Amino acid sequence: MNFQPQIAPHITGIIAELQAAGYEAYLVGGAVRDFLLQRQPKDYDISTSATPEEVKKVFRKNRVMIIGRRFRLVHFYHGNEIIEISTFRKKPEPVSAAERPKKVQDAPENMIFRDNEFGTVQEDAERRDFTVNALFYDPVNDKLFDFTGMGVEDIKNGIVRAIGVPKVRFEEDPVRILRALKLVGQYGFTLEKETAEALQNSIELIKLASESRITLEMEKVLKNPYGEKILEAFHNNGFLKYFMPEIDSHWDHEDMEFIRDILTKRNERIRNGEYRESISLALSVFAYPSAARWIASAKKKTVQTKAFRMEIEDLVSSFFLPQHPTRRAIGAAARTLLLQPEFASNDPKVQDDLKRHPGYAHARELAFIRNSIRPFREDFEEVFPPSHKEYRSHKRNRKRKRT
Ligand code: ATP
Ligand code: MG
Repeated sequence: MNFQPQIAPHITGIIAELQAAGYEAYLVGGAVRDFLLQRQPKDYDISTSATPEEVKKVFRKNRVMIIGRRFRLVHFYHGNEIIEISTFRKKPEPVSAAERPKKVQDAPENMIFRDNEFGTVQEDAERRDFTVNALFYDPVNDKLFDFTGMGVEDIKNGIVRAIGVPKVRFEEDPVRILRALKLVGQYGFTLEKETAEALQNSIELIKLASESRITLEMEKVLKNPYGEKILEAFHNNGFLKYFMPEIDSHWDHEDMEFIRDILTKRNERIRNGEYRESISLALSVFAYPSAARWIASAKKKTVQTKAFRMEIEDLVSSFFLPQHPTRRAIGAAARTLLLQPEFASNDPKVQDDLKRHPGYAHARELAFIRNSIRPFREDFEEVFPPSHKEYRSHKRNRKRKRT
C-alpha cells in the first residue's frame, strides 16, 4: 500500500521531542487511517509512553494543558490547532456493582466506567476500537506498526472490524456503535460479519451512553464534511432512530430530499475549502424547508418580532431532540433562516443592509447553496458576493468561539 504521509512538520517535531526525552511516541488514530486512504486528516492524535505530567514537563515552554476526568490527556496548542497527546492505556479492570453510576446499574457487566490505567504500546493498540483505528506510525523513523496484524489489510479492503470480541467491545462502550457506523458512512467501509451482528444486537445500549458524549458526537457528525453519508449509514443500519429520532422519522418526508441535497453541497464546499465548517449552518439546513414556510405565511411585522424569532429557535431545536445543541448555535441558525427571504429582494437598500448584517456570511452560504440546487435568481453571485469581512475577522479573531 502506498504510504507517503505528508505529516505537518510540527507534528513530527512533537513526536521527535518526546522520543528525544526517552519516551515512545507515535502518530495514531484517524490521521494514520486517513493517510493510508490518501485523505487529508482533520486532526492529529499522538500516543506516547509518557504520562500526562511527563508530557507537560517535556513541553514546558509550549502551550500544553492536561484535560479530562474520565480519560486524562494533554492538549498541545499550535496556533488554533489542538493536538491530543494521550498516554498508552490498557483495558481497565471491571468496576464493582457498587461503584457504578446509578443511571446504569443494570448495564452490561462489561461496561467501562473509567479508562485511566496506563499500559504498553501493544496494550494500547488492543484497547482501541477497530483494527483500522489501531495503527501506529513513527514519522521520525518512518515506521508503521500494525499491532493487531489486520489494520492495513482492513483499510485496503474497506472493512470495519472490532478488535477482540465484538459483542464485548460494544458492551464495554456503546459509543463504539456510532463510531463503527461513522467509518461506514464516511469511507464507504463495510462491517465485518461478526462486528455487524454484534452491532445490531447491541444497538439499544446506546441509550446508556452519557448525554454529553452523545451531544458531542452529534456536533462532530454535523460538522463532518461527510456528514450526510454518515447520517445515511446511521439510517440504513437502524441507528438513526436512537441518535436523532426526529431526523429519522422525517427521513422519507419530501423536505428531506432537499435537506440532503443542501447538506451534500455544503459538505462538498467544505472539502474543497470554499467555506468553513459550522454547526449553526448545519442546524439551519435541517429546519430550512419548514422555517421557509412559516416565514412565508407570517406577516412581515410578525417576522420581525422577538416572539417569532423564538418560535424559529424552537423549530430548529425540535429537529435535534432529545439532544440540545448550544443556545448560541440555535440562535445563529435562526438568524440565518430569518435572513433567507431577503436574498430574493431586488431593493438595493435591502440588499445593502443584508450585506452589512453580522449574520451575512452563513446566511449567504445557505442562500448560495439553495440557489445552486433550486435557482431563484440568476444574478446571485453579482449581487451577493462572498463575505470577505467574515474572512478577515475569522483570521484576526481565531480564538473566538465559532458557531
Ligand atoms: P476522527 O478522524 O473522526 O478524529 P478518530 O478515529 O481519530 O477519527 P478520535 O475520536 O479522534 O477518532 O479518537 C482517536 C483514536 O482513539 C481512535 O482512532 C481510536 O483508536 C481511539 N478511540 C477513540 N474512541 C474510542 C473508543 N470509544 N473506544 C476505543 N478506542 C477509541
Ligand atoms: Mg482523531
